[in-house]
Formats: sequence, structure tokens, C-alpha cells
Amino acid sequence: MRIERIEHIGIAVSNLDEAIRFYEKVLNLTCYSIEEVADQKVRTAFFKIGETKIELLESTDPEGPIGKFIEKKGEGIHHIAYQVDDIEQALAETEAKGVRLIDKSPRKGAEGLSIGFLHPKNTAGVLTEFCSNK
Ligand code: ZN
Repeated sequence: MRIERIEHIGIAVSNLDEAIRFYEKVLNLTCYSIEEVADQKVRTAFFKIGETKIELLESTDPEGPIGKFIEKKGEGIHHIAYQVDDIEQALAETEAKGVRLIDKSPRKGAEGLSIGFLHPKNTAGVLTEFCSNK
């Protein structure tokens, strides 16, 4: 497995439009995409900063992963996504090293990426996502 870069940082927000205003009006970034990912019960907004993106995540269902996260921990950094060269191989290799996976095989995330999450119990508390555009 080879990690190529931090693809994005996922931030859980309770109000996407309000959060977008902060990133646009205060940080002078431009939201270039808003997308609903039904599979994850979220609405996402993306900002590009160099090679990396900020992904804001608003829950569309209180029972979804972001809804539960915000109820437990409040708004804040939710996950870090690493771009890997080969996601199937990265997930298999990680599992073989004894790390619990949330996704045993890649699924479809925002922006058409293949994504897979590792379990935060085995990643020093940081929810870790692998993603690949292949
Ligand atoms: Zn993500």
C-alpha cells in the first residue's frame, strides 16, 4: 500500500449552508460542489486547498453516521481521507495487519471516488478513510 496524499479532511457540521458561509466569507474559499450521498445519509460540500480538500458533512438522517457523531461529540473533524494507489489492496493489507475495517470492500463515495473506512478503535481515535479514483 502506498499513501499518495491527504485527499480530504471530513468535518461534521450541523448546518451545511451556515458552515459554507464561514468557509466562503471568512476563509475566502470557494465551494465548488454540493452533493448528496444517499448511501452515507449526508449532504456534502467541497472546498479545494492546494492538493487537499475540505469536505463538510451534514446529516440528512439523525440515525445516519454523521447524525450520530454530532449527537455524541458535536460538530468537528470527523475523518481524514488518504488517497491510496490501490484501495482494494490497501484495505486487504490493513486488515491483514490486524486492523478492523468498517468497509471490507470499497464502496462509492462523493465525487465518484471508491472509499473504505477503517475502524477508529484501531487507528488512535481518528476515523480513517482510504480513497482512490480508480
Ligand atoms: Zn470522506
